[in-house]
Amino acid sequence: MSSLEIRDLHVAIDSKEIVKGLSLTIRSGEVHAIMGPNGTGKSTLSKAIAGHPDYTITQGDVLLDGKSILEQEPDERARAGLFLAFQYPSEIPGVSIANFLRAALQARLAEGEELDATAYYKRLYQKMDMLKIDRKFTSRSVNDGFSGGEKKRCEILQMAMLEPKFALMDETDSGLDIDALRIVSDGVNALRGPGLGILMITHYQRLLNHIVPDYVHVMYDGRIVKSGDKTLALELERRGYDWVKQELAAAAPAPATTHA
Ligand code: ADP
Ligand code: MG
Repeated sequence: MSSLEIRDLHVAIDSKEIVKGLSLTIRSGEVHAIMGPNGTGKSTLSKAIAGHPDYTITQGDVLLDGKSILEQEPDERARAGLFLAFQYPSEIPGVSIANFLRAALQARLAEGEELDATAYYKRLYQKMDMLKIDRKFTSRSVNDGFSGGEKKRCEILQMAMLEPKFALMDETDSGLDIDALRIVSDGVNALRGPGLGILMITHYQRLLNHIVPDYVHVMYDGRIVKSGDKTLALELERRGYDWVKQELAAAAPAPATTHA
């Protein structure tokens, strides 16, 4: 059983605080969804956990199995078992998916160790069969001229091959069309299991019709302001985010001063 613990995380961009004290623990086998209106810091959260250099963690910690990852480079975080979809370059013309994945797996081995080619292709084809991906797909260059759906297919295949402990998926900015939506949800559902914890960041409730989360969290103004089960996602679809804001405003103490 593994855990990914986000502890009172504060993240700033150019000294402006965007994530303002966010705590969340994900365990193996769980699927958590973070939803929230645009601009609340969802992508900032995921990029900070990935170790993006533009995002400064000013307070708090992120722990994988009790050990802080904040001093680790993005590739060390990946080797430790985190999968962060956006850490990969978007297009690598001339490098086939098969060779790219092989290099990614090779990079995880100890120095001097060689990835066994036969075992590698066996594993690749096994994963592709499980995900119902055509074999021709792996001879294409990584993301080169890919449709949104093909990019997602490539991402899911990477995830399947790397077998992470935790996958962080920020689906907000990817403009998921119906095709991509289906690929992501079928893929995630195929990979879902006791060894994998998933943090799914989205503002599309409809994605959560296909990937039914164990927990749903609403993020607003840099914090998680509400948590629940899958019914919370349905309520958000029906009522939007305004009622969450109104609840917050009602719960907040009256401001001591008014703005002039
Ligand atoms: P969400 O993913 O919830 O829509 P973001 O994390 O993308 O929200 O953005 C939160 C806030 O941080 C926004 O006000 C956005 O303008 C700002 N922001 C995000 N990334 C950057 C960046 N690289 N440089 C400057 N401001 C940024
Ligand atoms: Mg975003």
